[in-house]
Amino acid sequence: MNVYDGLRIAAMLEHHGLVQTDNVSDADIIILNTCAVRAKATDKVFSALGRIRRAKRPNALFGIVGCVAREAGATAFRRIPDLNFVLGPQSYHKLPQILDNPDAKLLNIDLGGLEKFDELPQMERSPRVAYIPIQEGCNHVCTYCIVPYTRGRELSRPFNDCLRETLHAAKTGAIEICFLGQNVNGYKYTDENGHTFRLSDLIRETAKIPEIHRIRFTSSYPTEMTDDLIDMFRTEPKLLPFLNMPIQSGSQNVLSRMNRPYSLELYTNIIDKLRAARPDIQISSDFIVGFPDESDDDFEQTMNIADRIRYINSYSFKYSPRPHTAAALMPNQIPENIKAARLAKLDTRLNEIQREFNESCIDKTFECLLEGPDKTGRHLVYRTPFMQQCIVPTCADAPALAMIKITAANKASLRGKFA
Ligand code: SF4
Repeated sequence: MNVYDGLRIAAMLEHHGLVQTDNVSDADIIILNTCAVRAKATDKVFSALGRIRRAKRPNALFGIVGCVAREAGATAFRRIPDLNFVLGPQSYHKLPQILDNPDAKLLNIDLGGLEKFDELPQMERSPRVAYIPIQEGCNHVCTYCIVPYTRGRELSRPFNDCLRETLHAAKTGAIEICFLGQNVNGYKYTDENGHTFRLSDLIRETAKIPEIHRIRFTSSYPTEMTDDLIDMFRTEPKLLPFLNMPIQSGSQNVLSRMNRPYSLELYTNIIDKLRAARPDIQISSDFIVGFPDESDDDFEQTMNIADRIRYINSYSFKYSPRPHTAAALMPNQIPENIKAARLAKLDTRLNEIQREFNESCIDKTFECLLEGPDKTGRHLVYRTPFMQQCIVPTCADAPALAMIKITAANKASLRGKFA
């Protein structure tokens, strides 16, 4: 979501005659697009603002947009008095106001709705992978999560607006569409005729666009994985065989304290149905270790579920208390050293599973999407249908979509050659 927001902010400012620079001391305006999901990310924002303040030109404007802006609000101006703007994730389209009135302090952290999508100028060229936000906010209220506070209650964009943006992306360079939402598979829009559209409808319509070869969506909530959506994996070959469906913990007790009221049986049944629909599908997850009152036994159940599902690519974190959340006030917070030991153990196992899956790809051939050159410029990076990085020697006129035979693998990436 932040990648999408960043692209739209850049396009909006280019519309106002600005150009991008990588050099802070050249910039007329410096924007930190921020994430508040973990305490560490929030802390980094304020230390980065301190560095920017010293490095920027005296008249350059600087400020924050996104979830930390929403979380900090006016207190951000107290912490950094010469900050020029603080705009929440649903009001960053108001950023040009600061260009018209640079001496003002611009503060807007309203959770108004989805008006920003109507006010943002269209992007002239789409990246090969186009992110299309179809819903924002979340109604699930997991007890550790700040998103319902920073992005608000769940709102789905009108079906036709989503399709129009998808079509525009396809006509201006997109090959892959990634539908986005905090609770993306909860997408539900009812039009003026009473017709309700779901994510499966969007996938079906998008698959008809000839320029689009790959479709995916993130991030999914287990109980919203309805049969119509599971069936898409059976019927739509353009839908990639890869799904991020966070479980967070393998312990039923912890899940219930997290206010994630699904049973492990229901979660594993959904995975079974997905695998029946698309036998090669691979799953990734997010994990939180060291949630308040997590026992050794609870943690071992998380290790067990990782082994049972064999997630190929996961994001695992130590629990960090966030303001405005119920879990921050729960008793029996887990000491940092125990959280760190559990995270290291889980990461070791997840990395082994990922390496085993990567090695199982050797000698197989996949259609892969070009991401761009690597840092050395001597290689090209492609993405497999399972979102693995695949590195091939650079060549002139490399196709955006290529059949690549995998020749080697490690935990982090694959190597391959054009088939
Ligand atoms: S479903 Fe995801 S975004 Fe929604 S409250 Fe839970 S963790 Fe946060």
